[in-house]
Amino acid sequence: SEDDDHPNQPIGTPDEAFSTASRNRKAFRHLQEQRKQLPIARGRESLIRSIASNDVTIILGETGSGKTTQLPQYLLEGGSYHGQIAVTQPRRVAATSLAARVSAEQGQALGTLVGYSVRFDERVGLGTRIKYLTDGMLVREMMNDPLLTCYDVVIVDEAHERTLRTDIVLASLKRILALRNGNGVDSSAKGKAKANPLKVVIMSATLDAEKFSKFFESAPVLYVKGRQHPVSIYYTSSSQSDYLDAALRTFFQIHVDRPPGDVLIFLPGQDDIENLESSLRMYANQLPQNVPDVIICSLYASLPNGQQAKVFLPTPPDSRKCILATNIAETSITIPGVRYVIDSGKQKEKRHLARIAGSGFDTLLTTDITKSSATQRAGRAGREGHGYCFRLYTEEAFNSMIASVEPEVLRSSLTSVYLQLKVIGQDLDTMPFMDRPDQESVGSALRTLWLLDAIDDSRHLTDFGRSLAVFPLEPQYAATLLASVKHNCTAEVMSVVALLSSSSPLFPDTSSQRDKANEARTKFRHPSGDHWTMLNVFRAYDEVCASEGKSGRKDWCKHNFVNQRALREAWSIRAQLRGICERMDIDWSLSCGNEESPLLRSLLRGLLQHVALLQPDGTYKQVMGPSVVKIHPSSFLTDKRSPAIIYNELVYTTNIYARGVSAVYKSFIAEFPKLTGMRLS
Ligand code: ADP
Ligand code: MG
Repeated sequence: SEDDDHPNQPIGTPDEAFSTASRNRKAFRHLQEQRKQLPIARGRESLIRSIASNDVTIILGETGSGKTTQLPQYLLEGGSYHGQIAVTQPRRVAATSLAARVSAEQGQALGTLVGYSVRFDERVGLGTRIKYLTDGMLVREMMNDPLLTCYDVVIVDEAHERTLRTDIVLASLKRILALRNGNGVDSSAKGKAKANPLKVVIMSATLDAEKFSKFFESAPVLYVKGRQHPVSIYYTSSSQSDYLDAALRTFFQIHVDRPPGDVLIFLPGQDDIENLESSLRMYANQLPQNVPDVIICSLYASLPNGQQAKVFLPTPPDSRKCILATNIAETSITIPGVRYVIDSGKQKEKRHLARIAGSGFDTLLTTDITKSSATQRAGRAGREGHGYCFRLYTEEAFNSMIASVEPEVLRSSLTSVYLQLKVIGQDLDTMPFMDRPDQESVGSALRTLWLLDAIDDSRHLTDFGRSLAVFPLEPQYAATLLASVKHNCTAEVMSVVALLSSSSPLFPDTSSQRDKANEARTKFRHPSGDHWTMLNVFRAYDEVCASEGKSGRKDWCKHNFVNQRALREAWSIRAQLRGICERMDIDWSLSCGNEESPLLRSLLRGLLQHVALLQPDGTYKQVMGPSVVKIHPSSFLTDKRSPAIIYNELVYTTNIYARGVSAVYKSFIAEFPKLTGMRLS
């Protein structure tokens, strides 16, 4: 379980659930039987043939038909490809869990023949031939290997999701195909033509194949028929204001009234999943004797490695599994045994609010899903027999949903990809995107990079910009890290940046026990604000780890109302950052002790765009944008009327709040001519 690892050990890995299986001959034979039964197996030969005779093949298929797990194995077993096969996934949990499954199907330990690579975590070896990786990691790999020469085949999976990184991969593949396969206009490529041709496969779960085919010069489209049984759909008669409560009630109605079959509940995010999980547990414990047990599992993007394996364990007799998932279970991961789906109709969506805050910021909003998602979610109930889908919204609400998702490139911050493209000599403005990002977002990314000195006045990448791109961090935090060398505080900055890059918050929302939580956390409080406070927590945790076992560490986190998951993740991120620093000859042990300014000045170097000055009325005005912001009530900053602040992010509710705030001296800001030139003088 999650709590079994010491934080400086690698986090538990998903192969653990399979390692026994792969040692066991009978289980292995059973896996091979399962493989043969998958719907895609009948199309094996024609898939191999189409891929052999075309540069690009588009594959469209029902979720669960075996595309993601089987196709790479067919290509490997077919013997025509000697380089590696890449399979991209939008989400890290999908990449790690699929790699574990396919490893087991090959009867090999994870990280040998089959491996994965996701941000801050990798399991590959010299002999790795099939590699599941996030689309973001493939973009990263292009910085060192612009033509992706180590791959013979690149499979872009879940292309219908149209994530920002998927779109960049698609646009880049177009260029790489021209160069490696010599079928483009680039004459310099003729000599090398076909020496090491690349095969591209685009896989999608929805009916948008034509658009991909058109983008790749009329590439052929193959259809994989799935096994889909009918699904009965129920709507609510009126709209539900509280989808968690509605989900809870619907689950127990199913559980008490309906025949066996597992239940899959779609929720927007991790918070909702954790909330519903605790109420489900509470009520499940009070069920009468004659009602079957409830087994609750969850599945979301930042679920610690190893835990996703639980959802695949067979449901014991006389019990019902209840899986709480985000839209990761829509198409990326198919869970067997599901017969009932409860659909909240909501999802979390990343939005870049370029217009609201001037400089632009990313925010996660809970939004209505699309029709296409609703259809996919319902479909998950009908894989093994007649299914039932309970939509927690009205039929009218369904009818007014938009048809399909807007590509992420049209709604997210482009700063970090702009920089990555610069490193491979490409320009965001001239990439052959399937959908062009708007000028406002491109402009905002350019401004941020210029402010950081990552590009110069004529938009050329600087040496500093090149160093920023080496770190798997937002460019802002990479700049902070590099600045720490000058200020002699790399050890401190690394901890703070690792915590800021973790996918869970250090201080979870504890509304029910707010007073107790505040009291417990007070001992970490640093008057300068949230960054030093975070560092204090991390330092205290480091000490606890040195002296306590796993249960001591867990208790400590509980008593202090800090999120152990965030700390554990930060431990592993920090270890990775140290490795990168070593390779770049940066001394990560430089420490400023308890001297306050070095850390704040380093942070300021990265957060130049997030500086705000006190106004006479007690609000703050952005230096690099038009917005007036307030300090978030959760901030530890003591003097709420400090003349100048830096912040990590803005959250937009009834006001615009700055979250993750520290006070800085105006004299620090004066050191940055780009800031002073614009507003301060
Ligand atoms: P597709 O990509 O077409 O949606 P997949 O290749 O992902 O289909 O899945 C094929 C089958 O493999 C499904 O029945 C799924 O339940 C099963 N499967 C995938 N991953 C795992 C796993 N980690 N454990 C057990 N079964 C799995
Ligand atoms: Mg798939």
